Amino acid sequence: MRSPRETSRRDFLKFAGLGGVALGAAATTALGDAPRQAAVNLRAAEAKNVIFMVADGMNIAALSLADAWSRQRYSVSSRWLRLYRERPVVRSLCETHSVTGLVTDSAAAASCWGIGERIVNGVLNITPDGRKPVTLAQKMKAAGKPVGLVTTATATHATPAGFAVTVASRKSQSEVAAQYLERGIDVILGGGADYFSASLIEAYRKVGYAVTTDRTQLLARQGAGPLLGLFSPKYIPYEFDRVRDPALKVKVPSLAEMTQAALDNLATASAGFFLMVEGGRVDHAAHANDALALIHDQLAFDEAIETVLAFADRHPDTLVIITTDHGTGGIQLNGVGDEDFESAPAYAGTNEAFHRLAKFTSTQEAVIARTKGQPKQVQLDALVASTGLEFKAAELAKVTDLKTFQSLLPKQTGINWTSNNHTADLVEFCSFGPGSPLFTPFLRNDEIHAKVLRATGVPG
Ligand SMILES: [Zn+2]
Repeated sequence: MRSPRETSRRDFLKFAGLGGVALGAAATTALGDAPRQAAVNLRAAEAKNVIFMVADGMNIAALSLADAWSRQRYSVSSRWLRLYRERPVVRSLCETHSVTGLVTDSAAAASCWGIGERIVNGVLNITPDGRKPVTLAQKMKAAGKPVGLVTTATATHATPAGFAVTVASRKSQSEVAAQYLERGIDVILGGGADYFSASLIEAYRKVGYAVTTDRTQLLARQGAGPLLGLFSPKYIPYEFDRVRDPALKVKVPSLAEMTQAALDNLATASAGFFLMVEGGRVDHAAHANDALALIHDQLAFDEAIETVLAFADRHPDTLVIITTDHGTGGIQLNGVGDEDFESAPAYAGTNEAFHRLAKFTSTQEAVIARTKGQPKQVQLDALVASTGLEFKAAELAKVTDLKTFQSLLPKQTGINWTSNNHTADLVEFCSFGPGSPLFTPFLRNDEIHAKVLRATGVPG
């Protein structure tokens, strides 16, 4: 039961159009959650460091399948799911909408984290009425905390950019690159060298940035100081392809290696730091409906979680957030074998079907890149061969393009997709460390910004 006073306060907030975002503490107390709030107050402002991890475009099945793969292939659960058994984790569901509607893009989603407000898809931190609020990265910097952005997408992609810059269109990646320098983002690691002109790189060097394009150089680097590392003209290759190409493996760092390099760099800051780590290509694999690429990039993200946990163990004043910005593609492993095997239990063929992914020798993107400029049939044959699967001649006769090739796969692997687009799912949001009790079981994406500030005691 709520007291009349609480009810009228709630009605006032509703009438004034103010939700729990701006008035977090008051609104929560009004909902009868006072004991929890007291506990939260005790812990507020205790987090010195924040590590904010984003597996971009990860619906719950992507998390499930990476875990299933890890258990089947390596006999161990994914790091993310082991975390739920081993640590006092706060687990939430997060609603991912934007002003545009139920389905967000990465720019509007990251802007929620950047400024604590929902905006229009495609825009970076400019509100529909034209305001340009100060971004989370700027607030952290003003509080003396250096900021790092690490991603397997372009360093200037919507998700890292959304934490830091104010730009009218996410497509203006060169503008993002220039604004990172203006705003003094301390560590920038990822792909996207194409968006940093020679003169811009020179400007970075001039103010003291170490610039690297090579994995060995990155790993050998010690200590602090501003750092710009660009390891690919556009995106970092999918993890599956990166580790199978000896040249790429030497030259291009994994997400975990970039994360470690960023942590080594930022950890020396006496006032703490803010680090964003993005598995940016989980989303790309989902857009492309490539289950092999998706699972391996999700596992590369998982490896980065391991790196972050090792750091957090040594630095318990670190708030760790692990989440995604939205689902993409609607991947699902569906039961296989219910009608085909009358003598067997329902879905008895599912594991075997899922196992067939292990026969694949390449992501679709890598096959297409490798056969670029060659006749279409050569490309299609190479796609079919890369699966290591047997198809009937009648099935192969129907393959005329990428879509028809992909339509052969669900029957063999059990994996289906709902689209090539982002989805409206509620998503996984997990946090642990100081400040984590601020994250309630249900969150809106535009509530996170204020909670991170509160957890660190950084002014809003
Ligand atoms: Zn996307």
